[in-house]
Amino acid sequence: MATNADLIVVGGGLAGCEAAWQAARRGLRVALYEMRPLKSTQAHTSGQLAEIVCSNSFGSDQRNKPAGLLKAELRHLNSFILRCAEDARLPAGGALAVDREVFSRTVTERLGNIPGVEIVLQEVTQIPQSPCIIASGPLTSPGLSDAIAQLLGHQFLFFYDAIAPIVEFDSIDMTKVFWASRYDNHEDSPGDYLNCPMTEKEYTRFITELINAKKVALRSFDAPADPAAAGKKKGYFEACLPVEVLAARDLQALSYGPLRPVGIFNPRDGSRPYAVLQLRQENLAKSLFNLVGFQTNLTYAEQDRVFRLVPGLENAVFTRYGQMHRNTYINSPGRLLPTMQYALRADLFFAGQITGVEGYTGNVASGLLAGINANLLLRGKEPLTLPRETMLGALMHYVANADAANFQPMKANFGLLPDLDRQIRSKHDKKYTFAKRALKTLDLFILEQQID
Ligand SMILES: Cc1cc2nc3c(=O)[nH]c(=O)nc-3n(C[C@H](O)[C@H](O)[C@H](O)COP(=O)(O)OP(=O)(O)OC[C@H]3O[C@@H](n4cnc5c(N)ncnc54)[C@H](O)[C@@H]3O)c2cc1C
Repeated sequence: MATNADLIVVGGGLAGCEAAWQAARRGLRVALYEMRPLKSTQAHTSGQLAEIVCSNSFGSDQRNKPAGLLKAELRHLNSFILRCAEDARLPAGGALAVDREVFSRTVTERLGNIPGVEIVLQEVTQIPQSPCIIASGPLTSPGLSDAIAQLLGHQFLFFYDAIAPIVEFDSIDMTKVFWASRYDNHEDSPGDYLNCPMTEKEYTRFITELINAKKVALRSFDAPADPAAAGKKKGYFEACLPVEVLAARDLQALSYGPLRPVGIFNPRDGSRPYAVLQLRQENLAKSLFNLVGFQTNLTYAEQDRVFRLVPGLENAVFTRYGQMHRNTYINSPGRLLPTMQYALRADLFFAGQITGVEGYTGNVASGLLAGINANLLLRGKEPLTLPRETMLGALMHYVANADAANFQPMKANFGLLPDLDRQIRSKHDKKYTFAKRALKTLDLFILEQQID
């Protein structure tokens, strides 16, 4: 890889373009490597930079929503991609939706015209030995994936996602749901799991709807080419079978599997339910819980409908839906720092979906931080760790410090933020208070660190 650049950025997607722009506008000479159109992924269709492959929405633009708060933070930090998105904006209520072609054309033209950025249309198959940011995304080419796996150790690079939905605690009906741990009913400890008890009638109805629900058709690039290899890498086929596939094998399959009631008694009347859905705590703040064993491939609308048949989840708010798709990502905790640096090599940064950040806006944000920090490092300064009170700081903290044994990609959500120093009853007020604190903290940080 012959280049005179100070910094190499691999991947001209949302994260890579933001990172390249941030570094170049601070005076670095950047070589941005993008393999398309010479070599494409299974999902991209154009040769433009920053092609968005699915939804054309960057999510909410309202500060009382996690993605909206993140956007407000990105504006304070002068995000390039967000400005391009605003210039390609379509009417979409409170969300930031874009004309995808105008958007990626704008990014491609502007980045091509900024002094200091050289766009190199070439696949990268080795980790560069000079300062670099890897932002090759969820569909990183196999050659580069191998190189990353060799660097990190094969067990630290995942290729498929099979994830269970996450719901907000505040949306669970606690008059029906109870705390308990299996086989562990001490009077002095209520147990670690939330339990949604089902009668036989409720169970049968739920299973029938689950089996018949609409699923997302797996496209060829989502389905593992080699199931045995995928199973080895992520336990995808054995431990992570979609719950609806398991349910379709036998009406009682789930009552002996993820919904088994053994060892669980309802503390309200001492009865043993016919079946139980357990919810496991997802974050320290206890504001988010995942549906244990419920990795699924139902459409989002069907997850809303079918999972709300479970007693206690009638009004559940889903922070993340279950999903299964091709997704290359690092088991980042312990391997990446909250500065986006690889823990064992200071001048090697990762950004975007490959770090375990989810959502367009989150991926832009991680690229922004990597670009700023690569510039600082190359100028002999300390890379920045953003305060955890900010949404971006909280996301990066999650990526670097989550439980590595159960690491799952995460998008921006209020459950990642540290608690407020006072109780606020109204959910609406609480979200505004989180947002106000985040932006105030960020402004102070920008001033202190002289981020321009
Ligand atoms: C099928 C699919 C649908 C998705 N839908 C959504 C959605 O609706 N909403 C959402 O928020 N997120 C969605 N995502 C996740 C989405 O990919 C990210 O949010 C976002 O695009 C990630 O940004 P990124 O910069 O990390 O990766 P990308 O935007 O994918 O950019 C990575 C770039 O690196 C290039 N590249 C890969 N390997 C190499 C190499 N070896 N050398 C040089 N270049 C390389 C690729 O061509 C690509 O341009 C989806 C992902 C997939 C796979």
